[in-house]
Amino acid sequence: MLAFRGAFALTVCALVWGTGAVAAVQPESGVHTDPPPLSLDDLAALDALLEEDAEEAPAEFDRSALMDVGALGLVLAFAVFSFVKKSERLKVVSLMVSVAYLGFYKASLVSIVDIFGALRWSLPAFRDGQAYYALVVFTLVSTILWGRLYCGRICAFGALTQLMDQVIPSRFRIEPPVWLDRKLIYAKYVVLGAAVLYFLASGDTLVYRYIEPFWIFTLNGSVVMWTLLAVLLLATIFVRNLYCRYLCSVGAGLGLLSNLTVFRIKRWNECQTCMLCEKTCEWGAIDGPKILVSECVRCDDCERLYADEDTCPHWLIQKYQATRAALER
Ligand code: SF4
Ligand code: SF4
Repeated sequence: MLAFRGAFALTVCALVWGTGAVAAVQPESGVHTDPPPLSLDDLAALDALLEEDAEEAPAEFDRSALMDVGALGLVLAFAVFSFVKKSERLKVVSLMVSVAYLGFYKASLVSIVDIFGALRWSLPAFRDGQAYYALVVFTLVSTILWGRLYCGRICAFGALTQLMDQVIPSRFRIEPPVWLDRKLIYAKYVVLGAAVLYFLASGDTLVYRYIEPFWIFTLNGSVVMWTLLAVLLLATIFVRNLYCRYLCSVGAGLGLLSNLTVFRIKRWNECQTCMLCEKTCEWGAIDGPKILVSECVRCDDCERLYADEDTCPHWLIQKYQATRAALER
């Protein structure tokens, strides 16, 4: 309706202007005169239309904002559902949805710019950014509840590289040695700290273009940015989750926050000596019996493994003990 009224108002203006313009040009004489002024009735009619439009604008805005929040809610709900179900297939679907909807369609990702905004308290008006606030609140709350779930399946860039991982043959993989991995994970905190200090000193937010590749979803980068991104993606073919594990400042921020995580991954006593989960984790987030919460993205791989009664030594030992007890009776 708003669009119709706007179009109508424009049409009225065009007709009035057009009529005046036609009347103003006298081809026979070649004389140009000013268009006739609008009458008071014309002006009153236009005023009324503009006022009605202004009254209807919030309703129209709310409808589209509501649809954005609703669609985001569905995406997030599906991600949580896939997480709760511990289903590999649902996780892959959730990653695809994140890339398609949050990435290429909405280009909506939590960014270092949000951290800058929070530091200077210059956040978008709530009215203009309801879906943005919903995403940020979900990210913070889910991190406190479960850890870096945002990184594990909501962030479109992380989802993109995880999907790359699904199709790249494992023979291309280079796993950094554990000692190096344990050092490299701190690089992202250095990036975060340096970016924040630079921002506080200069007020320049544009540094984000060189430390995070999320602009890829807008397909809007300079030659230097595309070159850096190409190098990053090429390197990601060989070292999986390279950016997320070692370079992402948002991941670093969420890693710090995940030290508050309430519902952590359970461990069995047998985890003290068994290395199965540690080898399964593609994020370098298991160190012996310990889960490094700041590195864990709740990908479910280890949880699926140690829920598997035919593979996890915890269950195998229990079965063995039960059989032996039965035989001894
Ligand atoms: S580490 Fe960064 S890029 Fe990776 S999933 Fe998390 S926020 Fe996204
Ligand atoms: S395998 Fe386990 S510890 Fe590693 S990232 Fe996934 S959920 Fe976290």
